[in-house]
Amino acid sequence: MPFAEIIGQERAVDALRTAVRLGGLHHAYLFAGPEGIGKGTVARLLAQAANCDRADGDACGTCPPCRKIARGVHPDVLVVERERDMARAGRWEPKGGRTPSRDIVVDQVRELVDRRLSLRRFEGRRRFVLIDPADAMNPQAQNAILKTLEEPPPDTTLVLVSSAADGLLPTVRSRCLRLPFAPLPDALLEERLAAAGRSPEAARLAVTLAGGSLGKALLLDEAAMGARREAVLEAAALPADDARPWIAFAARHGAKRERAREVCELLLIWLRDVLARAAAGEGAPLALADLEEATSAAARLGPEAALRRIESVRRALLALRHNAAGPLALERMLVGWFHG
Ligand SMILES: [Zn+2]
Repeated sequence: MPFAEIIGQERAVDALRTAVRLGGLHHAYLFAGPEGIGKGTVARLLAQAANCDRADGDACGTCPPCRKIARGVHPDVLVVERERDMARAGRWEPKGGRTPSRDIVVDQVRELVDRRLSLRRFEGRRRFVLIDPADAMNPQAQNAILKTLEEPPPDTTLVLVSSAADGLLPTVRSRCLRLPFAPLPDALLEERLAAAGRSPEAARLAVTLAGGSLGKALLLDEAAMGARREAVLEAAALPADDARPWIAFAARHGAKRERAREVCELLLIWLRDVLARAAAGEGAPLALADLEEATSAAARLGPEAALRRIESVRRALLALRHNAAGPLALERMLVGWFHG
């Protein structure tokens, strides 16, 4: 697959293509930007382009080096992922029978990166170490990679891929050339989703929820989104003076933390619509046009109530991110709605 097939990342791709063609690749890159917009794909493509038999600055996708890199078996292109994911794929075994963690750990940096880079190159023109996601490196692992970032072996490029680059140690960030990847425009995402067979309404909602990430938008299937839309309608209809339905709502939608978070994310989008209606009246355009009736009804409570509810949902999302129990987080959110 050549660079031209990457959509929406012209700036990053042009910079890399030029660097490959002129032989001016940096020794360490930080590919930074939201999840699911092609950072990991571009990292692999870069390794292909630099090692492709055609040697024209792009990846043909069909020569032996390109194919080996795509299959993850090129000896000079090393991909480091979360310990658990690598263990699952049979590419890594933690020492001493330890349970694999969700992090990238210092042992991986020593065994996979340091040891491999101390060997000669095998068959490629340029060696690559792709760390994806780089923010999964725990602090010890990040400290361990510093030396390699400072003094990489010749003809070697490290690519750190991250959707949370600010979580990396400043010492790590400062040793990489940061290449920002942009969120994809909504129209482009909607077009892609339509091509994947989504109805226009479902595509629009998925795009609203996905924040510029095609990967995330594609993962949002219509059934799951329908269930969340129902949850918003249910929340909109909760009575202010009876806590029993709130508790039932919190128990049902909070049983799974991920689900609770998704409901909160949609509630936030909906409440912004409510606020827009409450503040600007009927003319305000809505992100969730199919919930218009519930939106107009809630807007009658006024902008202050909408703002207070938005604040409650934000707090619930934060608590859920910090591993609060789902039912408790949602209950507190509703208490904030009705007794804020
Ligand atoms: Zn090739």
